[in-house]
Amino acid sequence: MTESKPYKVAIIGGGPAGTACAINLCRLGVKDVLVIESGEYEKFRIGESIPPESRQIFAKLGILDSFLAENHDPCYGSVSYWGDHRRGYNDSIMSPFGHGWHLDRTRFNRFLANEASKAGVEVLIQTKYQYTRQLEDGHFLLTIKNSEGRKTVNAEIVVDASGSKAVFAQEMGSKKIHSQPLICLAARFKAKDGQSPQMQLTHLEAVEYGWWYTAKLPDNSMLVTLYSTKEIIQSEKLNSPDQWLEYLKNTPHTYDLVQSMEIVDNPPKGFPAPSYCLDKCAGKNWLAIGDAASAYDPITSRGITKSLLNAEVSANIVAKRLNNIIPDCQEVHNHIKLSYDRYLEERQYYYGLEKRWKDSIFWQELQIENFQIPLT
Ligand SMILES: Cc1cc2nc3c(=O)[nH]c(=O)nc-3n(C[C@H](O)[C@H](O)[C@H](O)COP(=O)(O)OP(=O)(O)OC[C@H]3O[C@@H](n4cnc5c(N)ncnc54)[C@H](O)[C@@H]3O)c2cc1C
Repeated sequence: MTESKPYKVAIIGGGPAGTACAINLCRLGVKDVLVIESGEYEKFRIGESIPPESRQIFAKLGILDSFLAENHDPCYGSVSYWGDHRRGYNDSIMSPFGHGWHLDRTRFNRFLANEASKAGVEVLIQTKYQYTRQLEDGHFLLTIKNSEGRKTVNAEIVVDASGSKAVFAQEMGSKKIHSQPLICLAARFKAKDGQSPQMQLTHLEAVEYGWWYTAKLPDNSMLVTLYSTKEIIQSEKLNSPDQWLEYLKNTPHTYDLVQSMEIVDNPPKGFPAPSYCLDKCAGKNWLAIGDAASAYDPITSRGITKSLLNAEVSANIVAKRLNNIIPDCQEVHNHIKLSYDRYLEERQYYYGLEKRWKDSIFWQELQIENFQIPLT
């Protein structure tokens, strides 16, 4: 097996967390940074809303102007039927940062990878991380595979940014502590005349068995997503396309948005929407960030910004560790755990606002304070 040149830092996963961490490291003067990404930035990725505060994060990363030049769709806030049958607004006109965005996720991920390359990072695409061996000097020997075959990469520090797979952290023995995981069933709708929908807001509607989310996507379709628990989806047979559509028809405000359109994805596609945090997010010379370390309920629309913030904090810690200023990367664990605890409080607040269905299993479960299910 061929061995590559040695790297200071190998980052597994080229999503928002991995590429932003790489850019931050370059800004801090760290050389020889490698990003290993199994995909090729072409496939559809779910998760597109980012809040106005993202602007600040892009500015700190030094990529605000180039991000703005990408012209992603603005999102001016949200309309919700949550806790009340009356419409509520959360308008970004009230935000000092301006509006948020509905991203073209594939293009956004590719943009971040390009920015990392421009900053001097080596980004390997269509290359899968497989497993690791720790050497006597504490470095890691990673085995990676692409169309040319297998090779090994020697790295002083490894950053696991592989998303929910958490490939490296789980190999290091970390376990996920889950907290009320959800499942979503999503389908796109398109106007019959091909016209673009005018909606530039996120639309939320709570129902007895979960909640519906609707947003315009960059391909001019409307994404309609139902969030609920696995048990409710099974018991209500919501994974049957006809049943999903029937329930949508009985969700008046959401159905209003798409009733004149035709469904594109039939059957709707299912995605896990978990909430978890690793019991151990860092070791002496490795750390996990982004969804590899913790995942947030999409109700917060903060998954991407959380990953970008993790990337900023972790790059500072990696730079200190490389200079032997600190003995390990434990500070990353503390940061992620603290942010996760705050997130649980925030989620508790959101779900606590809905009091209309006292007997609903969904709302009862989601309103249990900081309920956590055992390690998996
Ligand atoms: C249904 C749903 C809706 C969501 N909606 C929103 C939203 O509206 N707004 C928001 O901010 N967040 C949303 N999120 C969350 C958001 O998508 C994630 O938090 C975000 O993508 C995390 O970024 P990441 O870089 O940590 O991980 P990812 O984006 O998952 O990136 C991980 C990368 O690692 C790569 N990888 C994995 N394994 C390997 C391997 N072995 N070798 C090499 N590469 C590997 C993957 O190809 C991937 O590119 C949503 C999530 C879900 C599930």
